[in-house]
Amino acid sequence: MNVHKPNFLQSDRWDGLAFFSGWQATAAGTLNVTDPATGLHVATVGFGGPADIARAAREAKAAQKSWAETLAGERARILSRAADLLEKHGEELAPWIMRESGSIHAKAMIEVEHGALFIRHAATLAMAATGTFLPGMDTRTHYARRVPHGVVGVISPFNFPLVLSIRSIAPALALGNTIVHKPDPRTPISGGFIIARIFEEAGLPEGVLHIIPGGADAGEALCIDDNVAMVSFTGSVRGGSKVGELCGKHLKKVQLELGGKNALIILDDADLDVAASNAAWGAFLHQGQICMATGLVLADEKIATGLSERLATKAGHLQVGDPSGHQVALGPIISDQQVASIQAIVDDAIAKGAQLLAGGTHDGRFYKATVLTDVRPDMRAFNEEIFGPVACVVSFQRDEDAVAIVNRSDHGLAAGVISRNVARAMALGNQLNVGQLHINDQTVNGGPYAPFGGRGKSGNGSRMGGPSDIEELTQWQWVSVKDQATAYPF
Ligand code: NAD
Repeated sequence: MNVHKPNFLQSDRWDGLAFFSGWQATAAGTLNVTDPATGLHVATVGFGGPADIARAAREAKAAQKSWAETLAGERARILSRAADLLEKHGEELAPWIMRESGSIHAKAMIEVEHGALFIRHAATLAMAATGTFLPGMDTRTHYARRVPHGVVGVISPFNFPLVLSIRSIAPALALGNTIVHKPDPRTPISGGFIIARIFEEAGLPEGVLHIIPGGADAGEALCIDDNVAMVSFTGSVRGGSKVGELCGKHLKKVQLELGGKNALIILDDADLDVAASNAAWGAFLHQGQICMATGLVLADEKIATGLSERLATKAGHLQVGDPSGHQVALGPIISDQQVASIQAIVDDAIAKGAQLLAGGTHDGRFYKATVLTDVRPDMRAFNEEIFGPVACVVSFQRDEDAVAIVNRSDHGLAAGVISRNVARAMALGNQLNVGQLHINDQTVNGGPYAPFGGRGKSGNGSRMGGPSDIEELTQWQWVSVKDQATAYPF
């Protein structure tokens, strides 16, 4: 029998290279990508430094005018074809996401499905009417139209590498921008080369999309390059603050989507089994390495013990291990350094009096689903984004106390409220200083139709997705038209 191994990604095409106008070598050399679960070599890719970014930005600038002039229908067709290709080859591509970012299969497929959805949404943006006639200030015709910025630089993180790269790249392309994208060096294939391959096969003209894996220096080079008009950054508060500083200095528009400390509030009338399931999903999915992960479980004191016990039972049942070839619920943490950071926060909480109901230990990079109760404001776990599978239960007395705890944080990305009384949950939710509020759901929610972003230090007030894409990825141009030029007093 002749069995064909699926080979859409064609690694021999890009082995040791990066995506400029086609696959080419970088000046900065190559990078070995390893599987965080096993330490085994996954692939070798071209590694970009500042000179590579400058070259890509020049090429992207040269290609931008003709891409913006490409008929909207043709841009939409290319995007739709790219979405089709991603869906069609999803089962082949998912293992790359699993091996690079330590994802379980279900999470990798969520990335494929959502990635395709984001591209399909972007295709509709290409066809949207983006102008308006202005009231007559004089006898001229006045109108305003949205025009692309030019070259958009994209910087994305390791945790949901495919979706978080596509959610900036696809709408920016649809609206006539060209792209220089720098995925995280730990996930250059799932955060970069998969996207390059689907757009290459979909017929995107050369020079419109550049994908250059690199580190912080390459990201900073994007922020200061005169050929780059805007930077769309998803990552940590630390990285985002540096990117914001550089873009401010160089007078560039910048979109910052950063970390969160997200609360799931469980009121005393909630179904405790359902609430515990929500808390487990929100805190443990992808080992808690999600910006919207449930960082605090705020439980009414009347139900806190019952809720915590149910959550600990669930945590104890979640298998942790290498997701490639094994049925596990949790894969590895991305790095040893991140494991040490999680452990330090858990140890600090225990030392200051928190109760450990489950987990709290790790085998190498495999950190067990962990439940801490009696978490208090003097503990790091109360205040910091942990980026690990740790559910921190905090009890409160009155609904307004829960509001005060949430609004203490200046990283208000997402919040959820669970109650059988929707009016009560809404009344509480309306007081929360967060970018997204989910009534009767946990905090991990996303999709192309909603404007995604957070309050305070969780970003810079920008949003990604839905109605915000046109607002963020284009700018107004005022046009006035006289039938003929007329003389002035001078
Ligand atoms: P990180 O900031 O270290 O890295 C993210 C990206 O930024 C990578 O590509 C990295 O190479 C680049 N980078 C790092 N320093 C840079 C600099 N000085 N200049 C330019 N680029 C730089 O983030 P991480 O720790 O790898 O990712 C996890 C963080 O990302 C968490 O805080 C998480 O909450 C956040 N995140 C936010 C969202 C969101 O939508 N709000 C989504 C996912 C992750």
